[in-house]
Amino acid sequence: MMNNKNLETIRPNDFRKEYKAIEQELQGKIAKFFDKGRYILGEEVETFESAFATYVGTNHCVGVANGLDGLFLALKALGIGNGDEVLVPSNAYIASVLAISHAGAKPVFVEPNPITFNIDATLIEAKITGNTKAIMPVHLYGLISDMPAIMNIAQENNLFVVEDCAQAHGAKVNGQHAGSFGDINAFSFYPTKNLGACGDAGAITTNSAELAEKIKKLRNYGSVERYRNEVIGYNSRLDEFQAAILNVKLNYLDVWNTKRREIAQEYARIFSDQLWTLPTEPEGYHHVFHQYVVQSANRAEDMRWLKEQGYECLIHYPVPPYKSEAYREVYKNENYPLADKLAEQVISLPVHGKMWQK
Ligand SMILES: *Cc1c(COP(=O)(O)O)cnc(C)c1O
Repeated sequence: MMNNKNLETIRPNDFRKEYKAIEQELQGKIAKFFDKGRYILGEEVETFESAFATYVGTNHCVGVANGLDGLFLALKALGIGNGDEVLVPSNAYIASVLAISHAGAKPVFVEPNPITFNIDATLIEAKITGNTKAIMPVHLYGLISDMPAIMNIAQENNLFVVEDCAQAHGAKVNGQHAGSFGDINAFSFYPTKNLGACGDAGAITTNSAELAEKIKKLRNYGSVERYRNEVIGYNSRLDEFQAAILNVKLNYLDVWNTKRREIAQEYARIFSDQLWTLPTEPEGYHHVFHQYVVQSANRAEDMRWLKEQGYECLIHYPVPPYKSEAYREVYKNENYPLADKLAEQVISLPVHGKMWQK
């Protein structure tokens, strides 16, 4: 079965299977949700914020509308804006880069480590200037970045750290969770993430009561007290409905992450003969395999073969942000060969919490 001998198509996600596995609990929750009749900033959001802070190991969590807003509002809360520079990996997802631009700051790219896919900590210091304010490590594909090294560099250079944890719910290094290292960190609960809502949702985590309070204002028109608008805020609240769903699904995050890790082990066995670079889990790290990403020098051919075997694969991501139409004019004089190479070679095999299960 594991070899996919029956050639059943395996898709990157199967939301219906996931729903079926916890249908009664979700339906019970939804019935209560309509019974209570509270849709914005109620008990479900508060319960989730407190449960997720406990899960991650921070003093505070504040729900927001999505992951991009979480990153953007985190930078705003730190006072980062015009003229400031934020270091971000050159192979990041576009949203990480957009958040920096929306704050008014400049994304400055640092190449990744080609084995972990995460920002290469040894290349960070060369990119620090007088304008650098923060480092934004992006924990790609479920593997947390080298946070011990990054936190040291940040401390020595007086920089903030904003972790992009959108792909790393439950990931750890030395037993410490993604989202608990940086000054203020952002998660996405987009449906495909390891912890996914039934629509858009996000959150920030922090140990700072002051930063948490700032986010609570920024997400709600600058107000925590009705009709008292203290700052020029936004509308970026976590919906009560999404929080209700997340309150159910948070209980399954570790179980489904374990399933993802088992699939990764199985893939390593199935594909051990391929001329690919397979993902690794360095000593001391707990990988949660948001994606199982291999590197192939013959991607088109290999993806065709995988499709014949029944694996519906994706590419995360085919274009590095600096070469996207949105940014290529700005970065036309810069080159990131490693980001380019990864964009040409990466293949994401399907992996999700209910894969290979009835
Ligand atoms: C999904 C994702 C985001 C954005 O999250 P949204 O909720 O879709 O806004 C940001 N960064 C990374 C690395 C992501 O994977």
